[in-house]
Amino acid sequence: MCGCLGVLLRHATNRRTMLAATAVGIAGMSLTAESAQAAEDEAERRATETRRLVAESAKGARSRVILLGTAGGPTFWPGSTRVGISSAVVVGDAAYLVDCGSGAARRLQQGLEPMITGPKPGNTRAYSLLRAAFLTHMHSDHTADLPALLLYGYYAGLDLPGHAPLQLFGPGPRGEMMPVFTPPGRPAREVPAFNPANPTPGTKQMIDLLLQAYATDINDRMRDQGRRDPAQLVQAHDIALPKLESFRSPNETPTPSMAPFKVFEDDRVRVSATLVAHAPIFPAFAYRFDTDDGSVVFSGDTGPCDNLITLAKGADVLVHEVIVQAFVDRAYPAPRSPAEEGLHAHLLSAHTTAEQVGKIAEAAGVKTLVLNHMVPGNATAADLMPAQLGFSGRMVIGDDLLEVAIRKT
Ligand SMILES: [Zn+2]
Repeated sequence: MCGCLGVLLRHATNRRTMLAATAVGIAGMSLTAESAQAAEDEAERRATETRRLVAESAKGARSRVILLGTAGGPTFWPGSTRVGISSAVVVGDAAYLVDCGSGAARRLQQGLEPMITGPKPGNTRAYSLLRAAFLTHMHSDHTADLPALLLYGYYAGLDLPGHAPLQLFGPGPRGEMMPVFTPPGRPAREVPAFNPANPTPGTKQMIDLLLQAYATDINDRMRDQGRRDPAQLVQAHDIALPKLESFRSPNETPTPSMAPFKVFEDDRVRVSATLVAHAPIFPAFAYRFDTDDGSVVFSGDTGPCDNLITLAKGADVLVHEVIVQAFVDRAYPAPRSPAEEGLHAHLLSAHTTAEQVGKIAEAAGVKTLVLNHMVPGNATAADLMPAQLGFSGRMVIGDDLLEVAIRKT
């Protein structure tokens, strides 16, 4: 989620009537409070029924996605039980994590715990199923629960004897500071760098620094309880970008046209990545998991982007972020000054609206579109129903702990 959230948060409530009637196909109905409520109720009923069918179909599937957290943005959304963004891919008894937003570590245990059979002395062994994790980008709403994943992981299965270290992949250092955004008509500002000696660390450094920050706790666990060195629990990797002739720099060409490239492979999954449009964040990745049973793509945070469509071509499931246009419009209502117009466009360029996402899924030829990273996190089903527009497949409004089968169809 990009940085204009403060303005949006002031508009996170009082949102009962947007798009409701058209979203559920009863356009023409006048939007009285009663009819808007009826439309929202009908959208919610349809979304719930779709989720019920999807969950039913996922039972017993060898490969599946577990949505762990489905809210976007570094905030605790009022009136919502969705936690921060995170998903798991499960193939048999192996699990893989995509992003680790606030609340994800707990949700991961909840999602994997039913797979653990046999006696469970003390704490669960759910994390022992986890082989690898992938961060799409370095925004905090995608990474905030990494300390919990690793440090609670001591007691959730990462520290079992013989368990191979979790392989954690994510962006490398950005390499140059992001530009200061200046809306049209406003004077340029000077913004000091935070931590100027190392202002844009990547995944490997972030994990090293997080563990250093927790050294007191870790040394206590090691000396008092015989726990292992965390280096034996996790190995972090900065993803090396392929050489691209069209790439000049993160600020000039944040999303160069490219072919997907391989990040990871084992006997269950092959994981590929591409760069997506979430400037000024760089790099921002989408990931594709190919399994023997089918394929799933995670968009990460992105505006509409050809690289994502290329990566998702023919996938069985596309898990895609979404933002509610009316929510952004309320933050910057028309008529807009040039500066407000710039802020409005800036926010929308880094994300994909409900009206856009179905067309992207259709262009990629995916069978099932699953919405996640809802912004606002308290969006209603009626807000999100426009995601079906232009999409001939099945559209699912995701929710925390919903499971979706990965199955060739
Ligand atoms: Zn983001």
